Amino acid sequence: MNYKLNIAWLYPDLMSTYGDRGNIICLTKRCRERAIDVTVKYITLETNNLSLPECNLIFMGGAQDRQQKLASEDFLRVKAPVIKTMVENNIPALFVCAAYQTVGHYYRPYKGKDIKGASIFDLVTVHPGDQAKRLIGNVAARLLVPSEIKGELIIGFENHGGRTTLGNNIKPLAKVISGRGNNGRDLYEGALYKNAVGSYFHGPILPKNPVLADWLIKKAVEIKYGKKIKLALLNDNLADLARKSILRKMNINYD
Ligand code: GLN
Repeated sequence: MNYKLNIAWLYPDLMSTYGDRGNIICLTKRCRERAIDVTVKYITLETNNLSLPECNLIFMGGAQDRQQKLASEDFLRVKAPVIKTMVENNIPALFVCAAYQTVGHYYRPYKGKDIKGASIFDLVTVHPGDQAKRLIGNVAARLLVPSEIKGELIIGFENHGGRTTLGNNIKPLAKVISGRGNNGRDLYEGALYKNAVGSYFHGPILPKNPVLADWLIKKAVEIKYGKKIKLALLNDNLADLARKSILRKMNINYD
């Protein structure tokens, strides 16, 4: 059967810091190498939300505070109501850094008013003030969820001032082994709600962690077509080499 997926890429022009567009390149390449017909829908400030319901996978990347504020105003007003329904209907999603903050209840920047969030994720983010150090650097963490890939080692690069605290209606994605993660205190990194992933990992996260990219693709096909599938294995030697070089830098023994 020839599967077809539509990926909604939110604010590609505003929210794609630190190479987060590489996540879209990774997803489309890993689909096409499996003959999954994939289309990327560019969802910008200028587009409405009409094409969102036909999408099977959602991605929104990171941004500096100014772009984050600009995008989140539009997101709340136009896109969030549809995205919230899609996430509640188990559509898989990846929200990175500023996007991760934006789908929470609010983001309190180090100056200016709180930026209201979409409350899709039960979390809040507070920047502790311009005296606080940004959380920057390579990070390694062990997945706690989703169950299919629990225990896998994920690596990425974080650069955020905001500290995120999870509420009761969401699960931490991973346990930090090295680096800071959500807030540098509780040693959690990211979050999972239904099939929606939030993470501080730039890098971009998916090329460095093919197991997570494939989990998102598999979920997208299974939810759309209503059946379990097995994805063909791909040659991930390059990703393995990249992972090993970063883990060596972090003095972490890799499996
Ligand atoms: N502006 C947010 C912060 O500094 C998010 C930054 C980002 O997306 N890298 O916490």
